[in-house]
Amino acid sequence: MNDWLINRMRSLQADPARSTGGAMMNARTVARCIEALPHRLGDTHLPDRPAWTCQTCPDGPPWPCSPARTRLAEAYGPDRSGLATYVNALLFAAAGDLPRAPAVELHERFISWTK
Ligand SMILES: [Zn+2]
Repeated sequence: MNDWLINRMRSLQADPARSTGGAMMNARTVARCIEALPHRLGDTHLPDRPAWTCQTCPDGPPWPCSPARTRLAEAYGPDRSGLATYVNALLFAAAGDLPRAPAVELHERFISWTK
């Protein structure tokens, strides 16, 4: 662990209110990731929110559909952790839109394919 991270953790422990700022930044990050989707996917196979189904595929399967996964994987190339981080932000948004969806199911749908 580097010094920056240790100091960051200590400051959060010393002042829990700061973690609220971190959560707000996280919400902004999620918003930015969603805004980036049309560019990343070439304006096709976008999720129809709040259901998170594909707008393009016949019968609107759960998003990310197979073509969306392929396009996202191509966008990130060998950077699998970058891809996982990106879809994790989208998972965060989907979990908010689909509060009844089991966490295991959302993880399988959004994250498992990135490995
Ligand atoms: Zn699709």
